[in-house]
Amino acid sequence: MLYLHNTKTSKNHKMIIKGNTNVILFIEPAQDATPEPLIDDLTIKMFNCFKEYTEFGHVGEKGSFTPQLGTKGLHYCVCGTTSHNCDYILKNGQCVNWLCVHYLAYHRSEIPEEELEKVRKLTGSTVLDESDEKKFNIILGHPSEKN
Ligand SMILES: [Zn+2]
Repeated sequence: MLYLHNTKTSKNHKMIIKGNTNVILFIEPAQDATPEPLIDDLTIKMFNCFKEYTEFGHVGEKGSFTPQLGTKGLHYCVCGTTSHNCDYILKNGQCVNWLCVHYLAYHRSEIPEEELEKVRKLTGSTVLDESDEKKFNIILGHPSEKN
C-alpha cells in the first residue's frame, strides 16, 4: 500500500465532506458515544453494504477516490474508537470509511439528515447473518475501551 501522509496521528486526515453524493458518512461527531449502540435496519444495512466493499483506497477532500492509497497512522473517533487507515468503495460506487457503521450505532443523533438519507437509499439486507456477528462487533467499535 502507498501512504499519503507520513503522520503518526490522525489529526491531519480527519475529514468532513458535505454535499457530495459520492461519499457517505464522512462526518466527525463531537460528542461522546451513546452508552449502548443503536442497532436497527440502518446500522445493519450499512454493515451488509460495507462488508461487500469492492476496493479500498483514499478519499480526497472533494470526494474523489484514489485506489490502493492509505494514510499512515489511524483515524480515531471522538469516543476513542479506532478506524482503519483507508476508505472503502461500496458496490454501488459510493465511498465510506471504516467508522460508517460505528457512527450509525453510537453517534446517530449527530448524523446530518442528508447522510441518513443516503444510508436509507442504499440497497442491502437489514438482517444480520449469524456468521457475521463477530465481524459486525469489530466494525461496530468499542467506545468504552478508551478508558
Ligand atoms: Zn465514536
